Amino acid sequence: MLAKQLSPEIQSSITIEYLNSSGQALKRKVIRNSFISLGRNEFRDLVLKVSDGKLQQNFVIKQIQLFTRFIRDGKASVVLLPENIQLLISNCPADKLKHFMKTLLIKHEAGKKEKPVNERTRLLSGLPRMFETISPVQKKDVEQANEMRAKANSETPVKGKGLSHKGVNGGNRCQQKRTRTESSNSLIADLRPSKKPTLSMPKQIRLSTEQSLVLNTVLSGRNVFFTGSAGTGKSYLLKRIVGALPPKSTYATASTGVAACHIGGTTLHAFAGIGSGKASLEQCIELAKRPGVRQHWTSCKHLIIDEISMVEGEFFDKLEAVARAVRGKDEPFGGIQLIVCGDFLQLPPVTQASSQTKFCFQGKSWRKCIHLTMELTEVRRQTDKNFISLLQAIRLGRCTDDVARQLLQTTNHKVERDGILATRLCTHKDDVEITNERRLQQLPGESHSYEALDSDPMLVKTINAQCPVNQQIQLKKGAQVMLAKNLDVSRGLVNGARGVVIKFEEGNKNLPVVRFLCGVTEVIKPDRWVFKGHGGIYLSRQQLPLKLAWAISIHKSQGMSLDCVEISLSRVFESGQAYVALSRARNLEGLRVMDFDPKVVRANPYVLQFYHQMQKERALRQTSLDDFLDKENC
Ligand code: ADP
Ligand code: MG
Repeated sequence: MLAKQLSPEIQSSITIEYLNSSGQALKRKVIRNSFISLGRNEFRDLVLKVSDGKLQQNFVIKQIQLFTRFIRDGKASVVLLPENIQLLISNCPADKLKHFMKTLLIKHEAGKKEKPVNERTRLLSGLPRMFETISPVQKKDVEQANEMRAKANSETPVKGKGLSHKGVNGGNRCQQKRTRTESSNSLIADLRPSKKPTLSMPKQIRLSTEQSLVLNTVLSGRNVFFTGSAGTGKSYLLKRIVGALPPKSTYATASTGVAACHIGGTTLHAFAGIGSGKASLEQCIELAKRPGVRQHWTSCKHLIIDEISMVEGEFFDKLEAVARAVRGKDEPFGGIQLIVCGDFLQLPPVTQASSQTKFCFQGKSWRKCIHLTMELTEVRRQTDKNFISLLQAIRLGRCTDDVARQLLQTTNHKVERDGILATRLCTHKDDVEITNERRLQQLPGESHSYEALDSDPMLVKTINAQCPVNQQIQLKKGAQVMLAKNLDVSRGLVNGARGVVIKFEEGNKNLPVVRFLCGVTEVIKPDRWVFKGHGGIYLSRQQLPLKLAWAISIHKSQGMSLDCVEISLSRVFESGQAYVALSRARNLEGLRVMDFDPKVVRANPYVLQFYHQMQKERALRQTSLDDFLDKENC
């Protein structure tokens, strides 16, 4: 099913600036909550309609420049060239904005094929004023836009001359300057033949029926907890949810840095700013009121939390109380909409050996805050039905003889291929570091070191906590590595893809060349991660998107899909740990289980009870809905 995001109308803040010839704003109008739609007037001109809910203003589009560098943060701008008007859009749900801007660009380009109505005809037409909402982009619009672009490119072969430059007032120095400096960041830059030869609409996001249902429930404003087995697309859906909510008031978080990175967010601890949360409530409130932290709490309207199973119950209760105090609102969680997701049958919170684990749902605020519980049931990481049902049994702590037999049979699996060895999933973090270091040392050949470029070297610790790659990476020929970012999904270069370093490029950078299991060999270049730090400031790290992959911890693997894994389950100590480890594999063929003991397969009894109760309540709700529908139909 297609996510509902195709309407040519967006809701956002807008600043309308009327510029003089040197680009300074003579007049500025800010509308905090505006509705912007795209349509056509009585002469079929493309028109942007901006409304504040009462009054509306129409802008006829002749020549435009679009700036979209910060589109992922819900910001973009449209400059109407002959009129010298700038429309600055902000706080718009990112996915909608992307779609809107692409629609605007394609319709504008395609429209160049049609001859505009001349002034005289307009004056004499006597047609009533009209605004008709634009039709969705069709294949023919894209073809026409590309045709017009190819034509314009052949007429202006000089690199860097975009279509929109035509018609810029010759005396307008500022405009020309803007064009040169900023067009590399704009959609218009995409029009250059050297960059992107053809235009296309953004890939349509396809969600399953159950995923769409969750998205729509979230958009209706309710506090939702959605759960489901490993690989049912919870994090995938969360990313869509982030893209559908207004960015200024939406905070995407997760219990661990690695999980936060999957959804482009920060850790819940970084958002909250109350340390471990073990201090008294009064002290936590003081901490949350510090400059830079307070603003998170006051501006947040939608709080997203992934991998909730690893959030401690008492910490969650503290957050709830802090939210009420800092926001000065006595509603649950201070009125913040909670969008919480995870699987309590995976890893529990990390606690000291002496204290007992308390899950969030055991906290006193859970029931008060969570209005609705939903479940995703369709597993998307694995496709083999037999493997899926084996994993389901493990998830529930049931290890039948048949399940044990199937897992033991994997002991002899040859998961190595093309020099790519299996990644060992470890129960203990120390084993991971020792294994990776030792194996790298044992390799012959020269070692290459890559230093990260951090936006703020003083905040290395904060960046380390959020970023999946290290400040320094050491590699040698033969090093087992794993991608830490989606580089090109269509070619299989996805987060977690396994490979081996086969050589280093000649030259001063000595970039590593990696052969991946999917068959692709690629030179790996530095990539960039951006995180929100305290007070909403952006932190970034530029580094190779690679991690050593002889071993990783089960804890860090939660949320990942892995190509070939080897698991030693003898030291499993937590409920859910065996399930998390096994469910990383995409298929049984990519899995090798060593020293398996059925006793390590355990599900926490409180969690089982919680899920049982949840399903009973859902069945009840369904029955009453069925009864209602039956009566309606009578
Ligand atoms: P979970 O968070 O529930 O463990 P993920 O969100 O990591 O699961 O999803 C598992 C895999 O399924 C990922 O590779 C993800 O890209 C894919 N996936 C999930 N939902 C969809 C969808 N609607 N369309 C395409 N791929 C999907
Ligand atoms: Mg996930």
